[in-house]
Amino acid sequence: MLSKRVPDNIFNGKKCFYCGKYGLYKLADGRKKCRHCRRAYSLHKLRRDLEILYYFYIEVSALKAAKELSVPYRTVHARYMDFRMSIMAHLDQEFVKLAGQLELDETYFGGKRKGKRGRGAFNKAIVFGILERNGKVYTKVVINVKAKTLMGEIKKKSVKGSVFYTDYFKSYKSLKQFGKHNKINHGYTFGKSHNHINGIEGFWSYAKERFHKYHGINMVNYPFYLKEMEFRFNHRNEDVFKLLVNITKGGNLVRK
Ligand SMILES: [Zn+2]
Repeated sequence: MLSKRVPDNIFNGKKCFYCGKYGLYKLADGRKKCRHCRRAYSLHKLRRDLEILYYFYIEVSALKAAKELSVPYRTVHARYMDFRMSIMAHLDQEFVKLAGQLELDETYFGGKRKGKRGRGAFNKAIVFGILERNGKVYTKVVINVKAKTLMGEIKKKSVKGSVFYTDYFKSYKSLKQFGKHNKINHGYTFGKSHNHINGIEGFWSYAKERFHKYHGINMVNYPFYLKEMEFRFNHRNEDVFKLLVNITKGGNLVRK
């Protein structure tokens, strides 16, 4: 049985959830109002929402969370998608161009397991990624892996003059005009060489392992799930639940 408890330092029902001050009083309709920031809200709904967010944080599926919390599946699923939207907006906001040693790679998510593999795969989400060594990752669902598409992303999201690591894929051919380009020969071990793309490949495994839990993600929703993985990865050394609370609470966490 998983813990449903939202940590006390996040919400204890005494301090105002929004401004953190003591000063809640009861309204006639049962909601609380804060005498400092003037926000009015239902503690019951807030607690419920935080519980759903907590289940999202510990990566419990919407279906299982719905059962354990006795909330309709549709409600939990909708909240999960809201959280992913907030995450997406947050990633946009905090983004700074990647620099230094950058690993680039493309991969495929989803589709039928027995489907075609490799760069011509059909019915799968094509994902491009840039990983800054010892830093953050940036991912994007792309429509194809043509040079124009990939180079467009690279130029938008990384600093010119960076050191790039890729495999021998032809779409990276013009990369040398944008920075230093190191090509990796897959299947050949360089020992302790810096010439590898283990970082971005590690991220793909990290994301795919988590994607396995969600059976049959709608293709339309892939970018949202992917951004969730990017967010979790980029903040892996932080208090992710606290971050999630901050990201989601201002806008749509509490509904009337
Ligand atoms: Zn307040």
